[in-house]
Amino acid sequence: MYDINALKELLREPKEVMITTHHKPDADALGSSLGLAGYLKKLGHRVTVITPSDYPSFLAWMEGNEEVLVYSEKNDALVRRIVGESQVIFCLDFSSLSRINEMGDYIREAKGTKVLIDHHLQPEAFADLNFSNPQAAATAELVYDIIKAMGDGDKIDTGIGECLYAGIMTDTGSFRHPSTSKNVHLIIADLLHIGVNTSNIHRLIYDSSSELRLRFLGFALKDRLVVRHEYRTAYIAISAEDLKAYDSKTGDTEGLVNFALSIEGIVFAAVIIDRSQAVKMSFRSVGDFSVNDFARAHFNGGGHRNAAGGMSIDTLENTVAKFESLLPQYKDSLNASIKK
Ligand code: 5GP
Ligand code: MN
Repeated sequence: MYDINALKELLREPKEVMITTHHKPDADALGSSLGLAGYLKKLGHRVTVITPSDYPSFLAWMEGNEEVLVYSEKNDALVRRIVGESQVIFCLDFSSLSRINEMGDYIREAKGTKVLIDHHLQPEAFADLNFSNPQAAATAELVYDIIKAMGDGDKIDTGIGECLYAGIMTDTGSFRHPSTSKNVHLIIADLLHIGVNTSNIHRLIYDSSSELRLRFLGFALKDRLVVRHEYRTAYIAISAEDLKAYDSKTGDTEGLVNFALSIEGIVFAAVIIDRSQAVKMSFRSVGDFSVNDFARAHFNGGGHRNAAGGMSIDTLENTVAKFESLLPQYKDSLNASIKK
């Protein structure tokens, strides 16, 4: 399916390699990047992982985390230099260079060989080597499969395995989404076999909330949840003041959208948050209703059929009003989207 020989050829000699992933990396973005980094280091490459922004502290346990370079305006020159000097640039868990802010422009102009490893829909054609598979449950699944296809399965140790497990576990919703294939379970069986402590990883990621984060969740569900049964839709809009009142940290709102989706009869859920530069949106659906199409059509976003994101530079109030005004035109498809 993929040109694994071209990748083998590319990685035959030790090289300067950089790996990057999407803005506000989640466990799949960071886990696939650090898992791949651990493997490439074993092949003798010099590897730098650069993220376009910070990421939640509940991911900081991953092996290689201490070496991650987080892009900021302050280290712009350094990041530009690394992008310019990299012979190979891996782009993981995003399908369009616009998802990585300024770094997208640097990478577009860079002379290094670009390799895309991703599972989002509609990949942009910017890479020289393309390992894009929307059927995959997680980018970490693709990284595992690629390492195996390279004939290097024995190089996957517990450090690499933990990173990959985190990505697959979170992107499959702890193995409950329809993307949880036989291949996923076979990979997890193998990771268990090499000694990955799966329940510990689950605890590190899901049971590490601050008290304030939990109180924020309670507040959001009690005071900010709006349910529109006629459109089988539920959404939560969070203002900048709300975030401030609960001293919200990166990652604190992750998972919130799933609570809205868990209401009986609801097939479309959104979380709409007033971040400082823009209003950021998370969409989830069950069944045929494509939040990827919805996000692309109306909120400059995209993702997967049942999980996507988008943004708006309008105010929170206007963004919510626009979201509400769009629902009637989707009434029929929302009512036809079956909760399977
Ligand atoms: P989340 O809601 O967890 O931030 O993102 C859900 C899915 O949509 C993820 O796969 C994420 O990469 C993708 N996504 C989130 N925001 C955006 C966006 O603004 N643009 C695009 N193209 N994809 C997004
Ligand atoms: Mn992913």
